[in-house]
Amino acid sequence: MSKRPLCFGGGLQQKLLTEKKRNEMHEMSYILRIVRLAERTAAENSLEKIDAVEIAVGEMTGLVPEYLTRYYPEAARGTALEGSELVIDYVPVRARCENCGAEYAPSRENRYCCPVCGSPRAKVLAGREFELVRITGE
Ligand SMILES: [Zn+2]
Repeated sequence: MSKRPLCFGGGLQQKLLTEKKRNEMHEMSYILRIVRLAERTAAENSLEKIDAVEIAVGEMTGLVPEYLTRYYPEAARGTALEGSELVIDYVPVRARCENCGAEYAPSRENRYCCPVCGSPRAKVLAGREFELVRITGE
């Protein structure tokens, strides 16, 4: 059996695989960043009571939404966000082939290559997000 090279520089796969090995502190540092940003944004918009904080999390960040949700109350404690809900929009990876222009979701099944022409050269269109989308409150 010959070993076929991995497309997408193998980098994406690496990222997706290491996701399982990481420790959970990774999520905590990200969630603290969002809490600080949301607090600042809330203050700028004169929001005193925040009901929900919506964020976009791309698959390529390797972040696990379940952990983000779990750590959120702790990170939000003592801030204007205490008691609010964290809403996560999980964004799967989308890529556009630089050879034929096809859009696809890189995965183990297509070996992170274009499923139409097999080219490894692709531009990531979505999946890197870690952004504040919206804050709901009054
Ligand atoms: Zn292609």
